Amino acid sequence: MGPGEYTPDPTEGITRVENLPTPLLEHRSRKHRRRPCPRCGRSCPRHSLGSRTLHAVGSLRRDRPRQRRVAYPKHRCRPCGLLFSAALSDLAPPGSHYTRRVISLAVRLVAEDGLPYRAASWHLWRDHRVFVPFATIQNWVKAAGVEGEPARRLRPATWTGP
Ligand SMILES: [Zn+2]
Repeated sequence: MGPGEYTPDPTEGITRVENLPTPLLEHRSRKHRRRPCPRCGRSCPRHSLGSRTLHAVGSLRRDRPRQRRVAYPKHRCRPCGLLFSAALSDLAPPGSHYTRRVISLAVRLVAEDGLPYRAASWHLWRDHRVFVPFATIQNWVKAAGVEGEPARRLRPATWTGP
C-alpha cells in the first residue's frame, strides 16, 4: 500500500461492545491500613477488599481500550456496626463505570467543540480508544449542566452547506 492511501479504520462503525478489541487490563490497588469511621471518627482496620472496574482512556498506539480494576479496602467500625470504604471519588463518580478523565473528555467534546452525541461517541473511540454509548454521553452532559443537542443549537435550521 502506497503512502497517503486511505486505510479504513477496522473499528469504524462499531456499535456493539462485544465487537471491540479486548481491553488492556490495569490493576491498581489502594492500601489504606486504617481509616476513620465516618460516624464516630474511630480509626478502623481493614475488613475486606472491594473492587471496581472502570473504563479508562485507551491506548491508541496499541489500538486497545483499557480497563482499570481498582482494589480498595473496606473498613468496619465494630461499635457502630458500620462497613465503609474510601470513595475513590477522585478517580470516578460514585456508581460510574468510567473514569473522570473519560467523562470530562466527552463533556468537552459536546459542550466546547459542539459535537452531536453520536459524533462525540465516535470521536472518543477514534482518538482515545474508549467506547461510550452516545446515550451515556447525553446523561453526562445533562449532569454537567451544559446545553445538549449542540447540532441544533449551533447550526441554523436552514443550513445546507457541506
Ligand atoms: Zn464508628
